[in-house]
Amino acid sequence: MAVKTNKASPKKTNTIKLKFDTSWSYAPAPESKSAATINKQYDLFINGEWVKPAGGKYFDTINPANEEQLSEVAEANVADVDKSVKAARTAYEKVWKKMPAKERAKYVFRISRMIQEKARELAIIESLDGGKPIRESRDFDVPTAANHFFYYAGWADKLEYAFPNRVAEPLGVAGQIIPWNFPLLMAAWKIAPAIATGNTVVLKPAETTPLTALKLAEIIQESDLPPGVVNIITGAGATGAAIVNHPDVNKIAFTGSTDVGKIIQRAIAGTNKKATLELGGKAANIIFEDAPLDQAVEGVINGIYFNQGHVCCAGSRLYVQESVAKQVIRKLRDRIESLIVGDPLDKNTDIGAINSKQQLETIHKYIKIGKQEGAELYESSCKLPGKGFFCRPTLFTNVAQSNRIAQDEIFGPVLAILTFRTDDEVIEKANNTPYGLSAGVWTDKGSKIFNMTKRMRAGVIWANTFNKFDPSSPFGGYKESGFGREGGLHGLSAYVNTV
Ligand code: NAP
Ligand code: MG
Repeated sequence: MAVKTNKASPKKTNTIKLKFDTSWSYAPAPESKSAATINKQYDLFINGEWVKPAGGKYFDTINPANEEQLSEVAEANVADVDKSVKAARTAYEKVWKKMPAKERAKYVFRISRMIQEKARELAIIESLDGGKPIRESRDFDVPTAANHFFYYAGWADKLEYAFPNRVAEPLGVAGQIIPWNFPLLMAAWKIAPAIATGNTVVLKPAETTPLTALKLAEIIQESDLPPGVVNIITGAGATGAAIVNHPDVNKIAFTGSTDVGKIIQRAIAGTNKKATLELGGKAANIIFEDAPLDQAVEGVINGIYFNQGHVCCAGSRLYVQESVAKQVIRKLRDRIESLIVGDPLDKNTDIGAINSKQQLETIHKYIKIGKQEGAELYESSCKLPGKGFFCRPTLFTNVAQSNRIAQDEIFGPVLAILTFRTDDEVIEKANNTPYGLSAGVWTDKGSKIFNMTKRMRAGVIWANTFNKFDPSSPFGGYKESGFGREGGLHGLSAYVNTV
């Protein structure tokens, strides 16, 4: 396939637009919206019932791919939060903590199976509400969410093996607050270990993506889980803050930005509340000259562009060994040109819609900053849909370590590429960030992988792959990426006191 570059004047701009001769195009293959039922309005799911918000307020949730309203959802105020915490407390004291663990496990299994039964509907709603490609929601988000319930259901009556010679006791009421990038999956990460270990829950999804959590509430209601064990309430940041500040909450599990994580940490300082904070990231993907380059390029593409870069562990910094840098950059430029940006419901789509107008503006702001900082920008020449929030896959070369595009979390399909010569140099550079959530190493040598993983400060390091998840494997960060682990055995210990 021939690659032609536009002869854009380098004097006027440091942007080069690529033009690619694509000799084929795909016929649209849209998933049908009719397989999903979305109500016009959603109330709050408290004590096993749908209740009107005390303040009578509702807000819209839209489809970011066409800016149309999908539904309106209730805004929970302090009184609603109090009502849900009370429901969770009563369910905890009267029912859930007393129930034999093997009985609790059956409910968790049932929820998992029901997620599987409704997988198609959940995937469609996830893509409609959040903008992520249906391929991602269908093949990753929904099955992984079901797997988390399965995995933790299995542990529920085996805690004595998880914590040998100790008794694991639940903490009580858990307040759980989740972001917009993996709405159903984050809900599963939080709810499954909490209820499997005997806690009860008040969960708040993000303002822009409440719908799959509300579908999960319907599933939970249908599963006959005792009322009050899981309460799902919608609202904005103030609702989240009311959960954090409620005196009868024993544990806060938060996934979101580092800024809000810091607010939460300050708010709970001096209280008995336990916390796990899963925050931002600026993952380094490192390609050594001995790596299988095509595989590495595909891993980088998967790590930053799929899911629009809306991934806390996105490989947003790429360090390439100098000897292969030219080759890798050329391959990356060719590959981003072939990525399909567009309708999230189309099964061919690689990059869907940016989650919100605000997030798109943030991404554009960083692209501008990158250019001002003197980095060289390449972006795909693809046509963007006329409506909705979309962004071309973009990469920057000639990036300096101190540039903001190499330091700040952009949370969009924007890759900063830097080069290195030696192991020591790249470790120093990769660790030189306030974050420490994840990283990737691409090399042919096992010894190099072990050397790198030992010296890098990141909670998860993938070797010759990227963005792989499994319920049995713990996930979480260092430094400003937060503390505590979710998933695996570690994820259990975040919800119990061992005596
Ligand atoms: P965010 O703005 O921090 O919001 C996260 C959640 O907190 C939302 O439900 C939000 O409500 C709520 N919230 C806002 N202000 C609050 C406050 N003062 N007190 C309590 N809750 C409050 O983050 P986001 O923009 O939704 O998500 C993107 C961020 O999440 C990125 O930084 C990403 O790296 C991080 N993330 C981390 C992980 C991980 O495992 N480490 C996983 C996924 C995402 P509203 O939606 O109404 O604002
Ligand atoms: Mg939405």
